[in-house]
Amino acid sequence: MKIIASLFVVLLFGCRQPSSSEMPEKIPVNDPHSAANFNEVVTKHLDLDIAVNFDEEQISGKAAWTIDNTAKVDHIIFDTWRLAVERVTLGTEEKSTAFTLGKDSGYLGRPLEIKIDTGTTRVNIYYSTSREAGALQWLKPQQTAGKKLPFLFTQSQPILARSWVPCQDGPAVRFTYNATVRVPSNLSAVMSAENPQQRSPSGVYTFRQQKPIPSYLLALAVGDISFKAIDHRTGVYAEPSVIEKASWEFADMGKMVNAAEKLYGPYQWGRYDLIVLPPSFPYGGMENPMLTFATPTVIAGDRSLVGLVAHELAHSWSGNLVTNATWNDIWLNEGFTTYFENRIIEALYGKPEAKMQEVFSRQDLARAIKDLGETSMDTRLKLDLAGRDPDEGLGTIAYDKGFAFLRTIEETFGRDRFDAFLKDYFSKNAFQSRTTEEFLGQLNAYFEDDSKGLEKLRAAEWIRGVGIPSNMPAAVSPQFTSIDSLLKQWEATKQATGLSKLIVSTNQKLYFLRKLPSSITAEEMATLDKEFGFTRSGNAELQTAWYTIAIQKQYKAATPYIEKFLIEVGRRKFLRPLYGEMVKTAEGKAWAKQVYQKARPNYHPVAYNTIDDMLK
Ligand SMILES: [Zn+2]
Repeated sequence: MKIIASLFVVLLFGCRQPSSSEMPEKIPVNDPHSAANFNEVVTKHLDLDIAVNFDEEQISGKAAWTIDNTAKVDHIIFDTWRLAVERVTLGTEEKSTAFTLGKDSGYLGRPLEIKIDTGTTRVNIYYSTSREAGALQWLKPQQTAGKKLPFLFTQSQPILARSWVPCQDGPAVRFTYNATVRVPSNLSAVMSAENPQQRSPSGVYTFRQQKPIPSYLLALAVGDISFKAIDHRTGVYAEPSVIEKASWEFADMGKMVNAAEKLYGPYQWGRYDLIVLPPSFPYGGMENPMLTFATPTVIAGDRSLVGLVAHELAHSWSGNLVTNATWNDIWLNEGFTTYFENRIIEALYGKPEAKMQEVFSRQDLARAIKDLGETSMDTRLKLDLAGRDPDEGLGTIAYDKGFAFLRTIEETFGRDRFDAFLKDYFSKNAFQSRTTEEFLGQLNAYFEDDSKGLEKLRAAEWIRGVGIPSNMPAAVSPQFTSIDSLLKQWEATKQATGLSKLIVSTNQKLYFLRKLPSSITAEEMATLDKEFGFTRSGNAELQTAWYTIAIQKQYKAATPYIEKFLIEVGRRKFLRPLYGEMVKTAEGKAWAKQVYQKARPNYHPVAYNTIDDMLK
């Protein structure tokens, strides 16, 4: 497919010397977050054989790596984070070999250096995980929906895979995998791979991922999990008490895959399923291949938050198929995906819905730039995260500025030409990892006949510059214009009665809340609450927007609901603004600490590391 695609470009643009961007596989990648020597010797396939022990909160077993020693070196380096490495052998004959665990570098962990021969093709590592493993969250039965059985799920992105599997833990390295996972026989296991749809009476599960993936997409969930099909290639996994609600909420999944394929080419992963995790999952969703991991906070009961599924599905192209080569390039994953998500929403739910989402994205972008400071280097698309935990790069800039940049490309060259470029880009770079520079090289080459357009685009300024370039297209939604006039009217009269009949959809309500004047009083909040019932809303987006104002304005009627929300929900996106608002006053901070004591055991390390910092 790659050869045909390249040929097509050459035919379109006449005969020319192939640029370096057409052969980027050879360019060594400098990944500041991995100690692995993957430019010399690279892992190609993983045979994982592990047991999951809930009593010890430990995974142990064997990671057997098939390697390609291209530079004929005498050692291979893996990333690890607090793994106990018992022994290492080479080949199927399991010949013992020497290994050393290097110095502990905090969040980067310790390099595992193993002596190999120039002809070594297989390295077997016997290991076990630590209780602090950042990727693993062990849930007690009472932290699950069913309350009877424990649950385990992993979150490997960005550099947490090394805490449960010794690996070359950078997104430039891709490998296929087979896994055998042993779990208690009353539980099921699923992975980012071909999955079972029934429980195995022995508790032994086998998995196969035949497409090469980067390590951050290694994923495992174990619990009381059942399955319900949506159509021939999509379905939902969840705890039995959640499965009906979940399959209703995500009923459009099959249609979404079809819409995405129409836009950017065939879905390359076989099945597309989704698992609804317990509430402590720290993200909205994680695009683990073939099996999106999702927070239950998107089950709003009215399908209003399924944009998240469009986002995770879009990652099947941008991220999983064509991957950022390092975490400095994460906008290639998240900016593309936010754009693609918006296109799926438009195809499925119409332009007005997509435009509303775009307005929200711009609001988020403006707020992020304000918070970071307009001249902050962290407002650039291409980041420099060396010396920092790459988790810090997962802010909104990569998503919303990336989305705005792609919208600018679309406006500059026209939608048809940009779509053709994207389709070609995904096909040409399928199952490869790319840097920002490689993307830019391909963009420039594709549009080289339109030098005026390229000049107008000012791509370098978007990528390397701080703040927002002035050629960003405006995002306007007619649906929101009417809310603006209702807001004006409310400000003049402070009359809330009847408003809920005019401000109906979740988007409209969210827009209304975001635009409420900062002068609003607790008494005025009470009248709005009476009209809309925001405090008791089951919609996590609305709750977060409303509770943030409630904390600010000391609207006490919301207090018990805020506490309940913070204790039950572990999604960092919601926790951050709420705790952030609480810590602004001494009294609020004391309150935050008191709630956090009860809430923290329910949070994933990804979330509590962030909140620990905020409450220091
Ligand atoms: Zn994403």
